[in-house]
Amino acid sequence: MKIRENIAISTITTMRLGGKASYVIDIEAEEDVREAYDFAEKHGLPVYVLGCGSNIIGRDGGFDGVILVNKIHGIGIEKNEEDGWIELYAYSGELLDDLVRYSTKLGFSGIEALSAVPGTVGAAPVQNVGAYGQDISQSIVSVRTYDKVEKEFVTITKEDMELSYRHSIFNSGDKVGRYFITKVIVRLKRGNLEPPFYNSLQKYIEENGIKEFSPETIRKAVRAIREAKLPDPEEIASSGSFFKNVYLHTDEELAKAEKMGIPVWDGGKIPSGWLIENAGLKGKIMHGMRVSDKASLVLINESAKSYADLAAAREEIIECVRKKFGYTLEQEPMELGK
Ligand SMILES: Cc1cc2nc3c(=O)[nH]c(=O)nc-3n(C[C@H](O)[C@H](O)[C@H](O)COP(=O)(O)OP(=O)(O)OC[C@H]3O[C@@H](n4cnc5c(N)ncnc54)[C@H](O)[C@@H]3O)c2cc1C
Repeated sequence: MKIRENIAISTITTMRLGGKASYVIDIEAEEDVREAYDFAEKHGLPVYVLGCGSNIIGRDGGFDGVILVNKIHGIGIEKNEEDGWIELYAYSGELLDDLVRYSTKLGFSGIEALSAVPGTVGAAPVQNVGAYGQDISQSIVSVRTYDKVEKEFVTITKEDMELSYRHSIFNSGDKVGRYFITKVIVRLKRGNLEPPFYNSLQKYIEENGIKEFSPETIRKAVRAIREAKLPDPEEIASSGSFFKNVYLHTDEELAKAEKMGIPVWDGGKIPSGWLIENAGLKGKIMHGMRVSDKASLVLINESAKSYADLAAAREEIIECVRKKFGYTLEQEPMELGK
């Protein structure tokens, strides 16, 4: 177990902002988890679990605590194929994209649309990662976790995770911060998929004359779409989608959106990227943060010096969209530190 001191959060998160954390510990095996929590307890410090830091923004005041960086690896078959269904496991420090690649190579479907979503498998249930019409709630069976309250490893089944759009017990409610997810099990089905696919995926398939819909083909298509419009976190500082989409719940809300000429997808979703773009913000730079020219929902850190710059840009965008359309955008990535 490697313990490092005074590490800038900006160096372990993809938005590349944030002050120093007192300690950072790389977790390479399940046994390290208990030891790391004991270390934090001995020093009277809080713990924060991190994967690739692609959905976390560090604040300027830093974190007076211990960050556990998840590097527990291993992917394989949990339960052999039966009646066309298989269960795969991945230890939580594996990249989600590597689990997707493994599953599609075997010919199983269920997570192929999550190809190239940055980050670890362990973070996927935290905000119920989703893309191109799929989310992890559709395939996840259970997770193994370290429960810091009971100080033991426990299994949590899908039913108890309360997964919905960008939501779970791991990011909302009184259990936030209680569990370190160490292993994830997904259940997948053998065979090809049936069109029609999610809007932009369907468009790509038609434009490219794709006629065969194996999980690997869909994976390739999703990767190509993403590569063309989303920044590679290795090269460009961002947290992907910066705002959640807006969900409408009543007929009145739907009628209002329609009257204003705002697109509503899947019976109730307003793409926040559309709102930002049509508020005239596409490509705009504010306080060193750029609204991406390719995907308006993405904020890129071009030259922001601090979290304060990001916060100022965020408020300007929210205000601009609220003034033009009356909707209040909500930030997607979580924040760490003071
Ligand atoms: C370019 C780009 C594109 C993106 N596209 C998408 C997209 O299409 N769909 C989507 O849903 N998201 C997207 N995201 C957001 C991000 O990829 C996901 O939220 C991903 O799950 C984050 O993984 P991570 O390992 O980086 O988690 P981190 O950012 O490190 O952590 C995220 C949260 O999960 C918690 N956490 C992480 N690991 C564990 C664990 N083992 N146990 C308990 N809690 C844990 C953390 O405490 C934190 O609260 C994108 C991000 C970027 C930069």
